[in-house]
Amino acid sequence: MGKVLIIGAGGVGTVVAHKIAQNRDVFTEVMLASRTKSKCDVIASDLKKRYDFTLQTAQVDADSVPELVKLFKSFNPELVINVALPYQDLTIMDACLECGVNYLDTANYEPKDEAKFEYKWQWAYQDKFKKAGLTAILGCGFDPGVTSIFTAYAAKHHFDEIQYLDIVDCNAGDHGKAFATNFNPEINIREVTQKGKYWENGKWVETEPHEIHKPLNYPEIGAKESYVIYHEELESLVKNYPSLKRARFWMTFGQEYLTHLRVIQNIGMARIDEVEYNGQKIVPIQFLKAVLPNPGDLGENYTGWTSIGCRIRGLKDGKERTYYIYNNCSHEKAFEETGTQGVSYTTGVPAMIGAMMFLKGEWRKPGVFNVEEFNPDPFMQQLNIQGLPWNELFDINLEV
Ligand code: NDP
Repeated sequence: MGKVLIIGAGGVGTVVAHKIAQNRDVFTEVMLASRTKSKCDVIASDLKKRYDFTLQTAQVDADSVPELVKLFKSFNPELVINVALPYQDLTIMDACLECGVNYLDTANYEPKDEAKFEYKWQWAYQDKFKKAGLTAILGCGFDPGVTSIFTAYAAKHHFDEIQYLDIVDCNAGDHGKAFATNFNPEINIREVTQKGKYWENGKWVETEPHEIHKPLNYPEIGAKESYVIYHEELESLVKNYPSLKRARFWMTFGQEYLTHLRVIQNIGMARIDEVEYNGQKIVPIQFLKAVLPNPGDLGENYTGWTSIGCRIRGLKDGKERTYYIYNNCSHEKAFEETGTQGVSYTTGVPAMIGAMMFLKGEWRKPGVFNVEEFNPDPFMQQLNIQGLPWNELFDINLEV
């Protein structure tokens, strides 16, 4: 049915490639390209062994539009799945426009020198994609991604008006390391050390990092201390659901993790500016990434679950209703199936489903869109088939 190019051969890229190989009726020809070609080749040989699937591989520097254009012209994909880093979003979108290729990613653009994620840079491509008749699907991982689709599904089927949204992200897994991040350390540490922010009564309220917290109960897991942080899907959700009086994002952190994080910040290792070291310029957070465990290698000893969902309060037929929709994902099962841990799995599966939605024509319209702007139903159906089944609870105490 379709020819796709995956860019990025990390944990998430590995899962996307596996899930594509499991859906070869939809994905007929596939290339995986990344900065380090040998990583693509390792994934390709695993897919050959496990599924007898042929994955083409290539080297590309996705910071360079001319390099991307050359690759796109030689492979001629219909869609690019960008699972490299958020820094590459705009160069890849530029190359897509130049070559007439559609686009999908899982994280919004961030400039390297400013830890600030906002959709404004990518939303600015709206007219260009529209004029070119191309589709750009933004934020199609789990959060952002499935959390936004859960919200769209709730608004479509269970509410006349959604008023309070609390996205709750719990990782109750144990990887056995003193400190490690579950996805790219540079992106992860930038995300969790910034100030908190949530939406209330028509405006953003800023908090100190990790200022608001309380224990929340997660299904099959129990109570975990959860912290209000800013997360990128809030920006598009409050725009697309103006009835929201409040929208927040909660993430669980263990005490050990927070202590390490505080030390990393206090000693300057989370700095994103250049410092002189031995006559050379280095960026401390990039150096830190080089010495921390590789998130892609955490899977082997990872036990426990992730539990991510949306707790929503609003009106249905004039009455107040509460609703909780969530997925629990096992780190062990994710590893068994794809050789990666649960966080890569919960991101890569939705990225593949988004690509499938595009190729099947379910999610195809000219312009730049966040995932909640598409029909959630066929996507929700695929979540159940592709390894991320969801559950719903009605009229419960939401705790938030
Ligand atoms: P990794 O760091 O494991 O992988 C990133 C990959 O991109 C690596 O293979 C890396 O190459 C490659 N890459 C980096 N820079 C370039 C470049 N200039 N040109 C070509 N390739 C490049 O990250 P993850 O797999 O954990 O995460 C991938 C993406 O998924 C990130 O954008 C992350 O923010 C997003 N994400 C989204 C989530 C969601 O739920 N929405 C959750 C988790 C992650 P090399 O191997 O050479 O370093």
